[in-house]
Amino acid sequence: MRIRIAGLEKNSIVDGEGIRYAIFCQGCARHCQGCQNPQTWNFSGGSLIDTSEIIREILEDPLLDGITFSGGEPFEQAEACFEIANAVKSPDLDVWTYTGNTLEEILSRNDESQLKLLRITDVLIDGEFIESQKDPTLEFRGSRNQRIIRSLDFFNRA
Ligand code: SF4
Repeated sequence: MRIRIAGLEKNSIVDGEGIRYAIFCQGCARHCQGCQNPQTWNFSGGSLIDTSEIIREILEDPLLDGITFSGGEPFEQAEACFEIANAVKSPDLDVWTYTGNTLEEILSRNDESQLKLLRITDVLIDGEFIESQKDPTLEFRGSRNQRIIRSLDFFNRA
């Protein structure tokens, strides 16, 4: 399977806790005012890469603490993101996912691919960027409406 990406950051220390392999998905329909990455909006931009290549690189790096999906909008390519996460996730390698959606929006959509990505996510940072709520002191978030949701166990992981 291929995934359209804006870029990869193979040793990120700002996209979650620890050393992380960050995958910046290409394509986002939200167009939040003040978005830091408007170059990721175009669904035809970026580049296509085989998920197996990303999986191989992650598995070859013993220093990683986790992987992070960011954007762009990972939930627009939920199946490809799930495939990567499912291949690499372990007790030593967790999964953080950034999304412009709220958790409630993802759940109410009831899209099986998106629910699979949600189920395999350990930490979800949700909500669009709202410039009037921008706060540079926040850890891992851009604006105060965004949430760091660490307890997704409430919803069935079976
Ligand atoms: S959801 Fe994220 S990537 Fe999309 S426009 Fe908003 S801030 Fe930018």
